[in-house]
Amino acid sequence: MDRRIRRFRQTKIVATLGPATSTEAQIEALFEAGADVFRLNFSHGSQDDHAGRMDSIRRLEQRGDRPICVLADLQGPKLRIGTFADGTIALTNGQRFRLDLDPAPGDQARVGLPHPAVFSALTPGAELLLDDGKVRLRILDCGPDQADTEVISGSKLSDRKGVNVPSAVLALSPLTDKDRSDLRFALDLGVDWVALSFVQRPEDVAEARRLIGGRAALMSKLEKPAAIDHLAEIIDLSEGIMVARGDLGVEMPAEDVPVLQKRIVRLARLAGKPVIVATQMLESMVSAPTPTRAEASDVATAIYDGTDAVMLSAETATGAYPCEAVSMMDRIARRIEHDDQYRTIMDARHPDPDHTPADAITAAAHQVAHTLGAAAIVTYTTSGSTTLRATRERPDVPILSLTSRLETARRLALSFGVHAEHTADVSSFSEMVDKACRIAREDGLARSGQRLVITAGVPFGTPGNTNVLRVAWVE
Ligand code: PEP
Repeated sequence: MDRRIRRFRQTKIVATLGPATSTEAQIEALFEAGADVFRLNFSHGSQDDHAGRMDSIRRLEQRGDRPICVLADLQGPKLRIGTFADGTIALTNGQRFRLDLDPAPGDQARVGLPHPAVFSALTPGAELLLDDGKVRLRILDCGPDQADTEVISGSKLSDRKGVNVPSAVLALSPLTDKDRSDLRFALDLGVDWVALSFVQRPEDVAEARRLIGGRAALMSKLEKPAAIDHLAEIIDLSEGIMVARGDLGVEMPAEDVPVLQKRIVRLARLAGKPVIVATQMLESMVSAPTPTRAEASDVATAIYDGTDAVMLSAETATGAYPCEAVSMMDRIARRIEHDDQYRTIMDARHPDPDHTPADAITAAAHQVAHTLGAAAIVTYTTSGSTTLRATRERPDVPILSLTSRLETARRLALSFGVHAEHTADVSSFSEMVDKACRIAREDGLARSGQRLVITAGVPFGTPGNTNVLRVAWVE
């Protein structure tokens, strides 16, 4: 493998690992095809499965000498019905159907729903969605341990299908016992990000952050209408955001999803937090070597919206063409990033800098790099915050982020345009310039005779202290 595998694209690619991509060779092939972040989906597979994948990723990272970001996605309080005596039933429009707390196998007239919090939150007239919205039920009458419903939209229904309750805020912790165990396990593995599913309230995010205690960054998955009602506070408390369009599109009308995607991506960029657009991006590539035109267009739209990253789920976890799906995303991203219209949109939506030295310096670095036609912006950072402010600018050149903290370099691999390197702190201006030029050259980001725009904090190595901008020639 090329020691420092090159990426000629700024939008990042998140690939979910699963049965189709569990061996070290398969994971390496995904990385070489362009995956920047690997997602361990704790809704599927055992902890041992995830540990094996994590070992492969860290070995790959050592061989490639390039930080790789790992995102552990917790299942969250996914609601499910119980089982049926015959495995499957068929519901017809207009029929009555009961949900209750009885664990006995269900039939044509009823099924168990082992979640008391749902019954407490239901009111007559509310809707329940089963099996990703294929079945819609309207509540006629409800009590603390059962609900009588009318089938609005019927279909086949089988064991343990998912349940969504869009209209209610449920009295559920965002972390189930399984999630707490998976969280401890993932933190011990050393994952870089933890994604929290079914966030409903800002307090959910605060609780998860307390449990994580800074050992990983927290990403809130936005998939509940209640979370959309508290968008600004949830973004404020989170370190990253995922537009989880799968459940979002069940909980809310399909036509709202693109509108919300644009709004969430804009707000995340404004806050300077990385955002992922997820789910069904190249869905048909689960079983076909090429995507539909509409899917290619969907990936392109997320990039024109200004997302940091686009994500593959089943395409890479269980699909027949995982590497082809990553390569396709890579090609779409590179094509869009070279479109003049893309640059016009990124510049037009440019957020104002905050009135801080770090923002003043990073906004100036973008401007100087553009005016001089510099090859890259180099940010010396400890916590990663200066690099996040630089990527908020969405510059048209790569951001080489140099940090003495490996965990910072790994987390930043998710962010737009960031090429992160783990390297020792510098102690003088000449070392700052020499090291930036050497690494930019070695990593293929700049050639001799090109210029770099470097930001750093003096005294060197002090977090939160960016106050210097320097233009350097690469020798
Ligand atoms: C989603 O719902 O879009 C999503 C990413 O969540 P999951 O795949 O974990 O259900």
